[in-house]
Amino acid sequence: MQRHSQVPREAVIKEDLLRGGIAFDESALSDSANEASGDIKPKSYFIFSFDHGTLPELGEAALRRPPEEIVLTGGPYELRRTVVSVRVNPSSPYRVAADADGLLGLYLDGQRISDVGLPPMPDYYRHKLANGKSVMEVAPTIQWGYLVYLTVFRVCQYFGAKEECQYCDINHNWRQHKAAGRPYTGVKPVEEVLEALEIIDKYDTAKTSTAYTLTGGAVTSTIGGKDEADFYGQYAKAIEERFPGRWIGKVVAQALPKEDVQRFHDYGVRIYHPNYEVWDPYLFERYCPGKERYVGRDEWHRRILDSAEVFGPRNVIPNFVAGVEMAEPFGFKAVDEAIDSTVEGLRYFMAHGITPRFTTWCPEPTTPLGKANPLGAPLEYHVRLLQEYRATMEEFGLTSPPGYGPAGPGNAVFSVSSFMDSLPA
Ligand code: SF4
Repeated sequence: MQRHSQVPREAVIKEDLLRGGIAFDESALSDSANEASGDIKPKSYFIFSFDHGTLPELGEAALRRPPEEIVLTGGPYELRRTVVSVRVNPSSPYRVAADADGLLGLYLDGQRISDVGLPPMPDYYRHKLANGKSVMEVAPTIQWGYLVYLTVFRVCQYFGAKEECQYCDINHNWRQHKAAGRPYTGVKPVEEVLEALEIIDKYDTAKTSTAYTLTGGAVTSTIGGKDEADFYGQYAKAIEERFPGRWIGKVVAQALPKEDVQRFHDYGVRIYHPNYEVWDPYLFERYCPGKERYVGRDEWHRRILDSAEVFGPRNVIPNFVAGVEMAEPFGFKAVDEAIDSTVEGLRYFMAHGITPRFTTWCPEPTTPLGKANPLGAPLEYHVRLLQEYRATMEEFGLTSPPGYGPAGPGNAVFSVSSFMDSLPA
């Protein structure tokens, strides 16, 4: 915080929690084994595990679900309201626990550094679909209720060590939930998604839910005879027909050829996230072997630029996984080099009016990169990135991307990185 005083204090703590996880005292667990009861909104495992241990390793924190997110306020750093996605790590130096009066706090090496609030159970989670499935499983919401997260395909057709992205545990997360006997639908039927959205629309009377994201694993062949654009697009089409304009439609998918991207747009999607994952060519080749083989990095980037002609550059928001640049054994050894490379990527896209965004890498232990780097990337990298990201945006005259809710410390709800917390309000 002292070295980087331009970066909000809230963002520094949030990055540290995201990269290294949080331990939960028993007093802070939601006790929501039955996810529809209880007062606290439990962690939904909306796509990846985003934990630092497997479910059997997490013990109590797996049986009694932790909250989806926490909100930090006050404490010695006088934190403004900061929403942080929960990544469980029983050996983290950060611990959420209740004090003698039952008030929750965040403790670092035993010192209380902020107050902690938990997300209330939304009304729509208390209702089930006609077939008994929970809304949390079919259409969980994150970002303090702002975003409906529709992982409609729970696995990825890039499969095994030679194809899967080396930081991604989507396929393992699917297996572990099945093994634990939890409901976890592989391909979500369109009708179920519509039914869950109907429930959200009915009970979210404050209209907190503002956007939906359609996503899941890559489709390299077909699902039910549909290619990737038609598979994900069919949900957008159905949603837009049933609830025209109720939410901002976003899709996270591969960088597809322009005709396919046009189909996404025709189906009613308004924001496209063709994630480029990591900028450096040597690292992309090693970390994303499936994408490199099926599409290739240069073509991937060309397609991102082409898609701006369909969606408009503001609405093309490719993600990268911040931190994997520094993962052993192939990553950069020095923070400066990793930042220089990342900024080169930002400049490439921002020069075309496209604003990338990033999620903070969670080194999940069942992934090759997580196994080799259980501590993730240094905090210095993450804090420097926030600084450079903002500076590069300002240089190109860009502002916070659409579809992320409000920006600025104390306002942001985007929970899996603090880029929105560190931009101007
Ligand atoms: S394409 Fe890569 S990051 Fe995306 S789901 Fe598949 S393995 Fe994971």
